[in-house]
Amino acid sequence: MNVDRTIKLKLELSEEDKETLRQTMNLSNRVFNEIAKYGFENHTCSKVSIHHATYYDIRGKYPELPCSILQGVRDAACEALKGVELKKLPRVKEFSGVRYNKRVCNVNLSKQIVTLASTKGRVKASFPIPEYYRQYLDWELRTSTLKYNKQQDTFYLHVTIRKQSPEPSGNEVLGIDRGIVNITVTSNNRFFNSKPIKNVRAKYAYLRAKLQGKGTRSAKKLLRKISGKEERFVTWVNHNISKEIVAMPFDVFAIEDLTSIRVQSRTKGVEFTRKLNNWSFYQLEQFLRYKAEAAGKSVITIDPRYTSQKCSNCGHIYKGNRKGNSFHCVKCGFQIHADLNAARNIAEIGKSNLGRQTVTLPNMTCDDAEACKGIDAEHSYNAPHLSAG
Ligand SMILES: [Zn+2]
Repeated sequence: MNVDRTIKLKLELSEEDKETLRQTMNLSNRVFNEIAKYGFENHTCSKVSIHHATYYDIRGKYPELPCSILQGVRDAACEALKGVELKKLPRVKEFSGVRYNKRVCNVNLSKQIVTLASTKGRVKASFPIPEYYRQYLDWELRTSTLKYNKQQDTFYLHVTIRKQSPEPSGNEVLGIDRGIVNITVTSNNRFFNSKPIKNVRAKYAYLRAKLQGKGTRSAKKLLRKISGKEERFVTWVNHNISKEIVAMPFDVFAIEDLTSIRVQSRTKGVEFTRKLNNWSFYQLEQFLRYKAEAAGKSVITIDPRYTSQKCSNCGHIYKGNRKGNSFHCVKCGFQIHADLNAARNIAEIGKSNLGRQTVTLPNMTCDDAEACKGIDAEHSYNAPHLSAG
């Protein structure tokens, strides 16, 4: 099974090279429109026949466009025609993204350098990469798309990378309970507590209260900045938790169906906390899914009913079994941390569901790289501490 990801690289270029790339894009997109027009008018999306019909004409008209770029543009135009089944004419704009195949775009992730073909020979650019892009160093590089943000005057290269992932065997199931005191508890007795998140939130809550009293424009600006920082921190924590969980020796990860999780809301304060937690729960789920996919593993959701009331030892269901953080079964006397009890139930339900349902693997792209940027520097917080529980 192939797993594809797209990583986004921000290119650092001289003003002169930027101008060259703008010209190259401009020309490529003009050529795209010409090729698409030919295919549309002649009712064909065959790469071969379009190539034969248009190649020499376009080479003659735009000699400065390298033929390797021309090939990529032609392929993209043919695919666009095919995508709309020749029913309408695909058009691109002056600065629409341009596809670069492997031959015209040489990306070196470890050296953080890329060379791109252009109307004036090869353009060389460097790019910064977040630390955890390192996990992609051994992935196969596929096609790249050069994109230009006009407002920011910045070029980005979206690189598709691929990895062969092993087929999941689907045997071992790990149950994952998501909560408030403990962000996550897994059925193999691991606790990821929320103390670090709480500390950061407390710090920001204090700042927020102070700023809200002021009500000035600069205070409001600062408030927005704070909530962004807080979210990025939670994102970073979720990253580390999901990474650690997926590395555990299990093939299938069972979690509660989020849509029916803990839907109590009484006061406004609770509502806010619930929203924040749901956002965080959902994000953790997404991270788990995409990391699991890359590892050839999978995530399944289960019905969350009774996961906290049922005894994971004897199966007896009784509301009074749970008191706060502790679970004490009135029937068999079994005692256990309430979250761990839930995690074990989730694993059990996951196991029994596995026999019945086919495990589907999601195909998602992750853009969390952006979200996490710069977090490490702001907080001296190490992943291993997460497991102190
Ligand atoms: Zn029991």
